[in-house]
Amino acid sequence: MTDDDDTTTEASTESSDEPASERHATGRYDVLVVGGGVAGLTASVFTARAGLSTVVVNDGEPIVRRNAHLENFPGFPAGVNSNLFTDMLGAQSTRNGADHVEGRVTEIRRASGDDGEGDREGDERAGDDSGASRFVADVEDVGEVAAQYVVASSWADADYLDGLGVEIRDAGSKRYVDDDGLGRTTVEGVYVAGRLSERYHQAIVAAGHGAEVAITLIHDSEVPYYHDWVAPEGYFTDRGREVPPGCEEIDETERRARERESMAVMQEYFSEPHPERQRTHPSLVDDELGRLADDE
Ligand SMILES: Cc1cc2nc3c(=O)[nH]c(=O)nc-3n(C[C@H](O)[C@H](O)[C@H](O)COP(=O)(O)OP(=O)(O)OC[C@H]3O[C@@H](n4cnc5c(N)ncnc54)[C@H](O)[C@@H]3O)c2cc1C
Repeated sequence: MTDDDDTTTEASTESSDEPASERHATGRYDVLVVGGGVAGLTASVFTARAGLSTVVVNDGEPIVRRNAHLENFPGFPAGVNSNLFTDMLGAQSTRNGADHVEGRVTEIRRASGDDGEGDREGDERAGDDSGASRFVADVEDVGEVAAQYVVASSWADADYLDGLGVEIRDAGSKRYVDDDGLGRTTVEGVYVAGRLSERYHQAIVAAGHGAEVAITLIHDSEVPYYHDWVAPEGYFTDRGREVPPGCEEIDETERRARERESMAVMQEYFSEPHPERQRTHPSLVDDELGRLADDE
């Protein structure tokens, strides 16, 4: 046994039984991700894959769309169009089960009955697939979304957290949300990911931090979790071990099928230049190169 796979935990995680459309209709989720940039979308991939019902609420353009050509994100030797990259990340989030809602979160408050003191007797927590929500978010022109956990990844807006008492640092015109190093804010159940937590202003850092924060959240929830790994058939079981929660073993036929599908999907994505025009800083509204500001 190596030191990176030393578990004896059994049973695998289960996805929420509730179809995405019904969760959307009731507006009640395990995880609300505020902000659909690199950090938030990556966090949603991990929480959704762990079986936590997840919604990403995003307003406006992720900042990476202003980039002219993304050349330092691992895995793209010649770089990638940042719009294409963001589209693919969004599709990955959806494919893994996260819902997506367009709208601005204006306030998050405690659900009535939640005293902010952590678990209450009789309160069913995330992973039990039901139960009272801890937080309610107002989404402009959309309505309310309720959730057990919030991931704030909404660079550069933290104002909707003010009512909860989350500790936020003012730095000139910017506001950064404090965390414990793993994404937990000063309010239990509320996490922060990406640039909003003053991590470095790079896409790979935002992605890595989104993943790290999501895994922190999963560990804090009731969902049994080890690693999100896809392993070859027998990797665990041929050594007399259960497949740990969050992991999956696939045989050679399945591996080849997934590989072929990924090749077809990527060929489609990379078959044509991205149709979106270049975006630039919102202050450059009359840009003579015809590039678009954020709100156009
Ligand atoms: C011109 C430019 C070029 C860049 N080039 C590179 C590069 O080459 N390589 C690199 O590594 N990095 C680059 N970056 C930086 C990189 O894009 C960012 O560091 C990273 O994308 C930040 O991701 P994030 O998810 O933390 O924030 P964001 O991408 O900003 O995501 C936050 C999202 O939340 C939304 N939002 C905000 N408030 C709310 C609200 N109240 N409710 C709902 N949604 C809300 C925002 O509109 C946005 O969509 C570049 C940045 C710029 C501006």
